[in-house]
Amino acid sequence: MPIKSFAASSATTPLGPFAIDRREPRPTDVEIDILHCGVCHSDLHFARDEWGMTTYPVVPGHEIVGRVTRVGAEVSRFAPGDLAAVGCLVDSCRTCASCRDGLEQFCETGAVFTYNGEDVHSGGVTYGGFSERIVVDDAFTLRVPDGLDPARAAPLLCAGITMYSPLRRWEAGPGKKVGIVGLGGLGHMGVKFARGFDAETVLFTTSESKVADGVKLGADTVVLSRDEDQMKGHTGSFDLIVDTVSADHDLNAYLSLLRRDGTLVLVGAPPNPQPIGVFGLLMPRRHVAGSLIGGLPETQEMLDYCGKHDIACDIEMIRMDQINEAFERMLRSDVKYRFVVDMASLKS
Ligand code: NAP
Ligand code: ZN
Ligand code: ZN
Repeated sequence: MPIKSFAASSATTPLGPFAIDRREPRPTDVEIDILHCGVCHSDLHFARDEWGMTTYPVVPGHEIVGRVTRVGAEVSRFAPGDLAAVGCLVDSCRTCASCRDGLEQFCETGAVFTYNGEDVHSGGVTYGGFSERIVVDDAFTLRVPDGLDPARAAPLLCAGITMYSPLRRWEAGPGKKVGIVGLGGLGHMGVKFARGFDAETVLFTTSESKVADGVKLGADTVVLSRDEDQMKGHTGSFDLIVDTVSADHDLNAYLSLLRRDGTLVLVGAPPNPQPIGVFGLLMPRRHVAGSLIGGLPETQEMLDYCGKHDIACDIEMIRMDQINEAFERMLRSDVKYRFVVDMASLKS
């Protein structure tokens, strides 16, 4: 039976109502009635085909929390009525070296992403969380810890894990100076995690209006990145900088802030190439790296960490029909700090 969703039908059309089908749950599937879905900047990049890889119509949304309605006969981890979550991944080969290492996002035969991925069960492409329901294999369904507000937990499924993973991998912690570039959905979780891991935490923002919030969210220092003097004051001092910026910006300004052997990790994904001056890397032996979301085990670890330490996202709840306006506000960096769609608004 068709269900309601919101889709973009071309790069230049706003998102609007669209009917999709979901498969009947297979023995290993979990069917989830979606309560909340976060709005990620990647949803905007995909809806407008800014990365040149969108298949239309596209139903975005990969920060999903909902209530389990049905489970297949072989599912033991979930029962109807449970809260469950789905992030950016819905399947992978499960046998390659990356899958065996719990890094399903790097599956060597190609992970299946929650939307715009190849739907191996129903044909066509996968459709994301801007919809009433989703049917996902049990192995790609996550548990939401008790005590976490479901709406504030939803953006953890992408924004949360995308920051948690590199901060763990590059060992943000006591004695380390860590920078987070950009205070948006990803950035605000980066500040919370870096602070939670006891690193000296510095936020870089272009928005003067976000300075006080940066401190409230946990930054020891907030630097206005367009102020050259403020930037220069930190030259050669960072162990790690995680850059979440979604648009063209000068990476070299951040490279110069790294100490010897320091690393600039790019998680933001501007559509255009970003030039890097080689000398800023040679001297003194700096690194540039990338990081993509996180695998299933680490995503569950991150959710459990958030449950234990009472960490969640700062959100502004919107109705599904406000999504196009939310995209425009996101482009103006006017979101504090993640839009979350109340999916009841799609059903009514
Ligand atoms: P967002 O909420 O829009 O935040 C991006 C922030 O970047 C803005 O709030 C702004 O912060 C800063 N910014 C925007 N334009 C800028 C410019 N021209 N120059 C300098 N700073 C600018 O977006 P998001 O959802 O956090 O996503 C950020 C990026 O990460 C997107 O490209 C998204 O596709 C990508 N992403 C990657 C992964 C991954 O796995 N690697 C996962 C999710 C998302 P200030 O106002 O503080 O300056
Ligand atoms: Zn995302
Ligand atoms: Zn694999």
